[in-house]
Amino acid sequence: MITAETKLNKIIPVLGLGTWEITGKNCSNCVSTALRLGYRHIDTAQMYRNEDYVGKGIKQSGLLRDDIFITTKIATGNLTPSRIRLSFIESLKKLETEYIDLLLIHWPTASMNLKACLDTMFELVEDNVLNFVGVSNFSSQLFEEAQNYGPVVNNQVVFNPYEADRSILDSVKRNGKTLTAYSPLARGKVYNDDRLKKIGKEHGKTAGQVSLRWLLQLGDISVIPKASSEDHQFENLDIFDFELNDEEMKQISGISYKE
Ligand code: NAP
Repeated sequence: MITAETKLNKIIPVLGLGTWEITGKNCSNCVSTALRLGYRHIDTAQMYRNEDYVGKGIKQSGLLRDDIFITTKIATGNLTPSRIRLSFIESLKKLETEYIDLLLIHWPTASMNLKACLDTMFELVEDNVLNFVGVSNFSSQLFEEAQNYGPVVNNQVVFNPYEADRSILDSVKRNGKTLTAYSPLARGKVYNDDRLKKIGKEHGKTAGQVSLRWLLQLGDISVIPKASSEDHQFENLDIFDFELNDEEMKQISGISYKE
């Protein structure tokens, strides 16, 4: 019997640090700086080739492992039961940890056997080396299918004011699960948006903070903005002292339906 959800003693922190395209010492420094500022969720992936530097950054921070939530993702080339197991052990070694909090299938592929992949991931939970099983870049239909195989608790997808597939958010909500929004700043595009800047001005916040706040207020969403500098990291963390009103929420939601 799958007991993943009953075993869990941690939930997914709503704000995390994205680490795509940050590598080397810079990555370790970014991670340790973010943890010092108060981040407690780090998002990495086998495909980012930075798990070892993320691991070093976590060590550098001096924080206890149990106080940090680590998400990593299985590369598309590893989507068979034996490769999932082997690559997972590699991820543990690189991240210098005995367990992962959330393991995702990074991208679905036409050739993968979804049930076999998820069953292998659930076995890792039973082995006490993994807390949560999730997926990434899954359509709402594929996410629904995954629900038949066990507790798949999260779908990490692109979600920002310009790209927001509501059917995916609806499917996670319907199943009592959560969405992690990647590229929540639309890779920097939000900073040039006059509509978001105007709303931000009303609250003394930047367009980026407005985008992150909009995502959190949609509910059942975590955000993982990538930020290399301490200033950017700090700004992205500073989103818990204001609230967008219904009109502002509607206005931002309206952008993605039109563009
Ligand atoms: P993003 O977080 O939307 O945007 C990152 C860009 O915004 C960077 O250029 C960053 O610059 C800039 N930025 C961040 N904070 C800023 C601030 N306060 N002021 C001004 N500029 C700021 O893009 P992303 O990296 O695509 O997405 C975030 C994370 O999601 C990734 O790092 C990765 O962990 C994850 N992701 C997952 C998938 C998947 O397939 N599952 C795909 C893509 C991304 P600086 O670096 O200079 O601060």
